[in-house]
Amino acid sequence: MEGAPESVIRAIAHILLAKLYKKDIDPAHNVRFKRFTTSASVARQTELIRHARGSKRFSGPQGHFYNLEEVFDLLNMRFFGGLLGRPELTWSEGMAKRSLGHYDAAHNTIVVSRVFDRPSSPRYAIEYLLYHEMLHLKHPVKMRGLRRCVHSREFKADEALFPELRQALAFIKRL
Ligand SMILES: [Zn+2]
Repeated sequence: MEGAPESVIRAIAHILLAKLYKKDIDPAHNVRFKRFTTSASVARQTELIRHARGSKRFSGPQGHFYNLEEVFDLLNMRFFGGLLGRPELTWSEGMAKRSLGHYDAAHNTIVVSRVFDRPSSPRYAIEYLLYHEMLHLKHPVKMRGLRRCVHSREFKADEALFPELRQALAFIKRL
């Protein structure tokens, strides 16, 4: 909060006190605070701090059965004309089932759950997961008012171009 305008400091004080005493939060203060925290420069600073603190352990792109960099490069040629810059790609450390894949902007890294790195996992399932995360690179998060719009209409239209979309979603559901 260093360097935040006084109006924002007041807004935070108001919100904290209101919570402490279980009183209603003045919507104007709420909006002021949210605007500040979601403004581009503050969001960037937060990313930088997260990056500096980042202590994630990654296991790298080479799995037992699939290499994420190889899959990425083929998808890049097929769907993006080879134009996407390749971020760090890594299999997750554990067998995460709640987060099957995600793009971490602070570390410019796509993490794919290791549950997909096995022969019973069809290639189109990994391709779909990676393709989805690659679309996050192509379509950065937009702010719609105070809400983060992660999967915009354009995002979903691009996602629908994936030929085995239905099979991939069905496989993930079974998993
Ligand atoms: Zn997503």
